[in-house]
Amino acid sequence: MDTTLSIESDMEETKTTPEDIRLLVAAQISLKSIPTENQNIYYRRILKYIDDYLETHCNHHYIFDWVDINPETSKRICYCEHCFKEK
Ligand SMILES: [Zn+2]
Repeated sequence: MDTTLSIESDMEETKTTPEDIRLLVAAQISLKSIPTENQNIYYRRILKYIDDYLETHCNHHYIFDWVDINPETSKRICYCEHCFKEK
């Protein structure tokens, strides 16, 4: 069985809710807590699937904010308030 095709076709048929997005973002944050060098190929694929899913299915709403680089410098960023993806 080709799991890649199965996952992709499921993604297109499934309706996404804000709760799905919220839970996938939480899962993504949790999975990213393992350093990249310690993630095997399957682990990275799961993260990539979540990333692709959020990119395509999130109803992105971008907002602007400032982050401190150091005590004197701030940087303006733009990110989605639902999935936190930066623009
Ligand atoms: Zn988003």
